[in-house]
Amino acid sequence: MGLHREIRRIRKMGGATVAGYYARQISNLLIRPLNLVGAARCECPCCGWRGARFLNYVGYDETLANYVCPRCGSHARHRGLAIFLDRYAAAHEAPIRVLHFAPERGIAARIAADPKISYVTLDMAPHSVSVRGDIRAIPLRDASFDLIICCHVLEHLPADGPALKEIARTLKPGAAALIMVPMRSGWENLPTLEFGAPQPRLSDHWRLYGNDVAARIESAGLCCKSLRFSSFLTLQERERYQSGDDVIFLGTKTLR
Ligand SMILES: [Zn+2]
Repeated sequence: MGLHREIRRIRKMGGATVAGYYARQISNLLIRPLNLVGAARCECPCCGWRGARFLNYVGYDETLANYVCPRCGSHARHRGLAIFLDRYAAAHEAPIRVLHFAPERGIAARIAADPKISYVTLDMAPHSVSVRGDIRAIPLRDASFDLIICCHVLEHLPADGPALKEIARTLKPGAAALIMVPMRSGWENLPTLEFGAPQPRLSDHWRLYGNDVAARIESAGLCCKSLRFSSFLTLQERERYQSGDDVIFLGTKTLR
């Protein structure tokens, strides 16, 4: 399966691109020993790892320095989201029921360990989730969750409207969905860029999102506000967690 995927990538992108990708992976071989001796300036809030720096993320077209947790594999966005989730759960005294699509390993372990949270995970892929199913036809009852987490899922769908409608359907009135998607450069002033087909150089994404994300979420019947990591993390925290300043869209189902 993995080999077939690589052969397909070589055909689509050329051998030189794929060879360069593997060559750039070597940088991470140097970072691992550095973490054994360097001062622990970085910390992963998903798994508790501490070290001198995170591993580099190596993509086919880009390398993101100091980005991937060596222990749980969290990326910058997961670390900011983990802190937001901690504070969100702490602000709710009563137990909450959470639905998480395509759960990221570090975040999932952290949520599952919280005795106040009843945790349901859903994915189509054959790995360990509570429920196997499609986000566009969630096999769960209406109005059954206090919080839904949908992080970097919608860009893998040909159309995001059906999934957003299902999120709205399964949220309890007054409950919220935390939605994160890949944003295009300068997104605040630009609309979503639809490719019309999955892009192999962009992890098979169908689109890069723009300034219409809130409108898409509101089309599904939710009220939407956006918040940057910098609105709840100090600069020092963002340095320590290497979280960047990503944006979370908070879609809330109105009380009726
Ligand atoms: Zn981690």
